[in-house]
Amino acid sequence: MNYENEKLNDRFVFMTTHKLPKNVAGKYYVNDNCIDCDMCREFAPANFARDDEGDGLSFVFKQPGTLGEEAQCKEAKEGCPAEAISDDGGID
Ligand code: SF4
Repeated sequence: MNYENEKLNDRFVFMTTHKLPKNVAGKYYVNDNCIDCDMCREFAPANFARDDEGDGLSFVFKQPGTLGEEAQCKEAKEGCPAEAISDDGGID
């Protein structure tokens, strides 16, 4: 493998994330970049929880149902230090 391929491979690995299976279906979800810092659970306790019986990472247990919850989820996404929260409803 030459240097350029190694660089591309590193980049690919860095960019590949997986949606955690405990997320409920919908707009917001957490991926496996989560580092269990607790911030999203503090910002949006009605929507994010910790998987205490599993890997200890956060997941979305309820999609926002009010404007207030939507604002809290948006704040959690923007503040997540690991960029582990998405709001596109994707299935990565
Ligand atoms: S803010 Fe991000 S890194 Fe921190 S617990 Fe939530 S999803 Fe994980």
